[in-house]
Amino acid sequence: MRIPDLYQEKKPVFSLEIFPPKRKSNLESIYETVAELSQCSPDFISVTYGAGGNIADNSTCEIASNIKHHYGIETVAHLTCVNSTKADVQEMIERFRAANIQNVMALRGDIVPGEELEREFEHANELAVEIQRRCDDQLEILGACYPEGHYQSTSLESDIQNLKYKIGAGVRVLITQLFFDNNAFYEFLDMARTAGITVPVSAGIMPIVKASQIEKTVQLSGASLPHDFTAMISRYEHDPEGLYEAGIDYAVGQIRDLIEHGVDGIHLYTMNDPQVAVRVYEAIQDLLPREEDTQTNNRREQKWDL
Ligand code: FAD
Repeated sequence: MRIPDLYQEKKPVFSLEIFPPKRKSNLESIYETVAELSQCSPDFISVTYGAGGNIADNSTCEIASNIKHHYGIETVAHLTCVNSTKADVQEMIERFRAANIQNVMALRGDIVPGEELEREFEHANELAVEIQRRCDDQLEILGACYPEGHYQSTSLESDIQNLKYKIGAGVRVLITQLFFDNNAFYEFLDMARTAGITVPVSAGIMPIVKASQIEKTVQLSGASLPHDFTAMISRYEHDPEGLYEAGIDYAVGQIRDLIEHGVDGIHLYTMNDPQVAVRVYEAIQDLLPREEDTQTNNRREQKWDL
């Protein structure tokens, strides 16, 4: 299924993100994770692309293909370009097509200071153009966006202007960086809509359930930390079980508020932890569309001009 069509049919779309195991020898473990995640009835699961863009080591395509064909769950394969040549991208696109993958998230990838890069692509929009050129509309393209601005942009305004290059290059759905302050998301969405960005935007939410996540993930994302969040962290600083429960509650509170505000989609960063994802899903399930709601929606006039 083409992911943009999902956003025509239901609101919110509920999706999950996983990453390939660091070692290929651990590949089987990801399928145990996917089997457990299937309890969340996700509309799709996206699979990140890592290994420094190294195609030979990359298991994104294989995992995405198995999610789709063995578990019957729609999938999005991520693809980065900053350390790839056009020939690498072509090879990867051919693999996606051979695996019958229909949806790709076009990303630049992070730049590690001092790293020698291929430099055939500077930005995600150039990758989106290349995907369009190579596959003639056979792949749907998603892209990333940043409610609090990308760390390299000089302002949120200029980041949103740059985001328009992606949309012009064929990106039809956006997924946000994680955030903890819903107001930041609402302000960003207002600005993006005012700037003429009309594609669906899914809100990226990551439950913080361990102290180790705080430094690593939270600081890397650059997300601002609202008072309620920092109060939670201080309160459970020396209480891992309390933090686990409070972190799930915080994410659930964010998601319920987003859905009540009419968000297009929720994208849960699972960190390959199905127990946390299932707990979150169970606490928001009543707000997700049921099958019969989706059918009613199908009969309504389509909303998105994609
Ligand atoms: P870009 O869109 O290229 O933006 C990067 C910077 O350049 C921004 O400051 C932007 O304002 C500016 N810019 C954009 N276009 C132009 C232009 N045409 N001219 C001038 N300036 C421009 N990383 C991985 O390695 N693997 C993954 O699987 C992965 N998945 C992700 C999924 C999501 C939902 C998100 C939010 C991020 C993900 N990342 C992943 C991280 C991502 O690669 C980094 O955040 C990276 O630094 C930027 O990627 P981008 O695609 O947004 O880049």
